[in-house]
Amino acid sequence: MAGEAGLCGACDWADAVRSARGSVFLRCRRSDLDARYAKYPSLPRLECAGFELAKDEG
Ligand code: SF4
Repeated sequence: MAGEAGLCGACDWADAVRSARGSVFLRCRRSDLDARYAKYPSLPRLECAGFELAKDEG
């Protein structure tokens, strides 16, 4: 998913959320702490000041 989602696909702050219809969305957990971040960022995200590489992506 990393390629399609850009940075969010490899970010430690992103959670994959599956809807009742089976679509998968990326939810940014930084949005819980900081209103500058969208809860569901539009993808692909190519730049983000809050990006942190997920531990399983390194
Ligand atoms: S912090 Fe940025 S790169 Fe990470 S999930 Fe949120 S919007 Fe995506």
